[in-house]
Formats: sequence, C-alpha cells, structure tokens
Amino acid sequence: MPKYVFVTGGVVSGLGKGVLTASLGCLLQARGRRVTLMKIDPYLNVDAGTMNPYEHGEVFVTRDGLETDLDIGHYERFLGQDLGEPNYLTTGRVYRDVIARERNGDYLGHTVQVIPHITDEIKRRIRGAVEATGADVVAVEVGGTVGDIEGLPYLEAMRQLRDELPRSDVAVVHLSYLPLLSTTGELKTKPTQHSVKELRTAGIQPDFIVARCPTAIPPGLRDKIALFCDVPRGHVIAAQDLPTIYGVPLAMREEGLDTKLLARLGLEGGDGDLAAWEGFVGRLANPERTVRIGIVGKYVELHDAYLSILEALHHAGAALATRVEVGWIPSDRVEGEGERALDGFAGILVPGGFGERGIEGKVLAASYARRAGIPYLGICLGMQVATIAFARDALGWKRANSTEFDPQTPHPVIDLLPEQGGVTAKGGTMRRGEYRAEVVPGTLLHRVYGAREVGERHRHRYEFNPRYREAFSSAGLLPSALSPDGLLVEAVEATDHAWYVGVQYHPEFRSRPLSPHPLFVGFVRACLDRGG
Ligand code: GLN
Repeated sequence: MPKYVFVTGGVVSGLGKGVLTASLGCLLQARGRRVTLMKIDPYLNVDAGTMNPYEHGEVFVTRDGLETDLDIGHYERFLGQDLGEPNYLTTGRVYRDVIARERNGDYLGHTVQVIPHITDEIKRRIRGAVEATGADVVAVEVGGTVGDIEGLPYLEAMRQLRDELPRSDVAVVHLSYLPLLSTTGELKTKPTQHSVKELRTAGIQPDFIVARCPTAIPPGLRDKIALFCDVPRGHVIAAQDLPTIYGVPLAMREEGLDTKLLARLGLEGGDGDLAAWEGFVGRLANPERTVRIGIVGKYVELHDAYLSILEALHHAGAALATRVEVGWIPSDRVEGEGERALDGFAGILVPGGFGERGIEGKVLAASYARRAGIPYLGICLGMQVATIAFARDALGWKRANSTEFDPQTPHPVIDLLPEQGGVTAKGGTMRRGEYRAEVVPGTLLHRVYGAREVGERHRHRYEFNPRYREAFSSAGLLPSALSPDGLLVEAVEATDHAWYVGVQYHPEFRSRPLSPHPLFVGFVRACLDRGG
C-alpha cells in the first residue's frame, strides 16, 4: 500500500516547504523507497506559464512540457528524477476538470460542490500521482500557509484521505517558524502554536513539527513545542538556517527525520547512503577558486526568476571545485552605460526572457562578449540576441531583429515560422518540453556534450529563421544542433571564438547536483581558462 506524506506550512510563507519536501524525497529515496513528490499550488491559474517571474520566480518546465512552479525544479534536483503532469496540481486544474465534467452532464443533475466534488477530484489526483509513478511513498506539498482560504479544500481532502486509509498510511509534516526576538534573544513558539491550532481547526493533527529557526533550539523549547502542539518530543525537528539548500537533507537526517518518518509510516528502510550527496555539499562549501559570471536579464532584482540557471552554475562550479559568483546586470543598465556595465566578468550569460524591454542591452552584451572573446552562454532568448547581434555586427544587417521586438525588421533573423500559424492566445501556446536535437559533428557543442543526440527542454515561440542559415554559417555563426528533421536550428556557436554558444532550449532544467549539465560545466571551465 502506498504511503502519503503531506507537508503543510505555517506562520509565514517562504520558509522553504519546497526544499523540505524535496529533502524528504531525497532522504526516503536514499533509504531505498520508491518516492515521488507532488506540489499543490492553491491558486486559480491552470499552470504557472502565464505567471510573472517577478511575483513567482521562474517557470520551471518539465520534460513533458508542463509549465510549473519552481519547487518542481527543487524536487527534480533533489530526487534526480524527471517529474511531470502527475506531480503538479493547481486549483485551476482541479476546477477546470470538475467544470468540464459538469458541462458534460456527468454529475447527473446533482449540485456540484466543493465538498465532495472538488475534494474528490483532489484525492483522485493525489492517488493518481502514486499510480502514474508507481511510487510507494508520495510526499505532497500543500502550497500557501495554513489558514489561507484557498488552501481549505486541500486540507479537507487530506483529512478525508487520512480517514479513508489506515492510520499508518498518512503522515503530516508541518513546517513552522520560530522567530527570534532581538531584544531578549529568545526564540518564540507562539506563532507555531497558533498555526497548529489553525491546522486542527481543519481537522488535522500534525505528526511532525519542523521548526525553521535562525539559531539552535534550546532543549526546553522542544519540550514546549511538543506539549503545546501535541506531538512526541522526538517529532519536533529543528531546521536551522543553512548556507546552502543542499545541506537540508543532511540536516534533516541528523535530526533523524527520515528514520522517524519511516517508523511512523510502518516502513522499512535501507541504510541510506548519502555519500555522493555529502561529497557534492563538501565541494560546494570548499571551493579552490572563484569565477565571476555576469547574468544580463530583465528580472535580475529577483534571483528566483533565474533559479535553475543559478543552481546549474553551482552544480557545474562544484564539479570544478570553483565558487561561481554571479553578478546581476539589469539589461537596461547595459543600454544606459554600454559595455562598461559588463566589465570584470570572466563570462557572460544571457538567460531566457520575453518582451521588448531591455532587449537592446542584451543584444549589446552578446555582441560585446563575441568581440571581446569573453565566454558566452545564451539561453533561449540569449541565443536569439546572439543571432541578432551577429547579424548586425558581422553581416552588416543593422536593423536585424526578432519579429517579437520589431515586426517590420527587414532582416527577421528570429521569427515565427509559417507552420506555427498565427498564435494569439498566451497560455499553453509555446514549443514546450523535451525535443530531440542532433548535434553537428566537429562543433564545440559536440565536444561539450560528447554525444551526437541530445534531448533538451524548450519554452519559446520564436525560432532561428532557416532562410538565413547559409549566410550565418559562412560568416561564422554556425548552427551546431538541429532538430532531427533538419529544419530547426537548436543551437549556434561562433567559429572565431573560444567559447560562444547559444542554445534555443533551456539546459538549466536538466542540471542536477550529481550530474551537472555539460553545457554549464563547459561554460564555467571556459571562464576559468580565461582567467577567473
Ligand atoms: N521570447 C522568446 C520566444 O518566445 C524567447 C523565450 C525564452 O527565452 N524562453 O521565442
């Protein structure tokens, strides 16, 4: 029988429920269980695709093309597994399906209500995730903070599921926060008590309290939390702030959370070998050198908007015993200050993006990196601006552009292809998810991958315009990967440069701590070679 672990959050948002859930997955998997993870986002959006990275951080794209919240990225990285459709649930998806069934007459004249119809659908989806993945444990993160109106149907579905299943099949882990009073230097438990009360109002008693805290918890305080929140003392787990999220599984193991959770679920577990993970965390903490990389983007004020890229850089850095220091450069600053804004970086990365704002700054960054011989990695929009920059600088097409930014350009080097038709709707209309690509033999990209065929994840509408392929190739911007039918250009590289690569896809979504993405490793290595 599969087991269900629910992770709820109290007091404030942003405590790291996603990382905790991912860490539980990592630990239980290391103990030999077949684990899957599921994120519930209690908002009405059908997926995260239409959401502003300013508000929510990056849109993470799964292999099967789902546009999800960034927590799914944490899950994939901590589990080392590809996740997808069954692992992500929003209120929008739940309601969409229930309403579709209502329109279809499937409810046979009954009144359609939150309880039982919405809660039934939630339970169906959760059980469905277990079936689809064949997991024996699923950890489900309920987004938001307990007490939020949006979260109530999920808490109710949890409560029902717990009643339908044997007691030992469902466990609830509640992540809470102990604020530190600066005046007295005390950690306070009252907000935690209140958030547990809130859970109980929904009929749920947590089995574990994970208390996020800025300093160590004094022993007496564990007793107090245990007493007031009605959990065994050993089930009060301290989660002190750490320098890296990758330390969380190790800290939770130190607290015995995995062993206690397995016991609570009546499961056996193997010894749990985390040596490789420890090795990674050790390399992250003890770099031998540092390299500075500049990221030029629109949303640089909010680093979560580029979370997977940052993580991929850190994975690559750890593999090379290198601390990757990121300098954030707003693209409009490059527009204002020119190349000076790009001084002092060993490499330049232009990430994905949409919309016209700051685009000329990104084109300038791509142009400068090529002219100055600075290693360059252009991701999605970053490849498109590299193409535009090359057209202007090397081909002399001064008004070359993407039709996304200048529909009237005489040289639409990036364009919507005719077979895409006229796309107008915003949600779900992009090329998304994994596509195979064939790497051109003898290219830098070929050396980087050491493979002729790769599968990478996409999320974009516009494409390299095949009409100009010859012109670019002969002037020195070489298509280095193509779609299997040979029609789409999936990557380009500059032949007169040591490391200048643009990829139409998003390699960052595939990078994992224990298997860093070759493109990021190659890029960081090239930055090191150029002298940090
Ligand atoms: N805006 C570009 C497009 O739609 C690039 C998208 C991206 O960088 N993810 O093609």
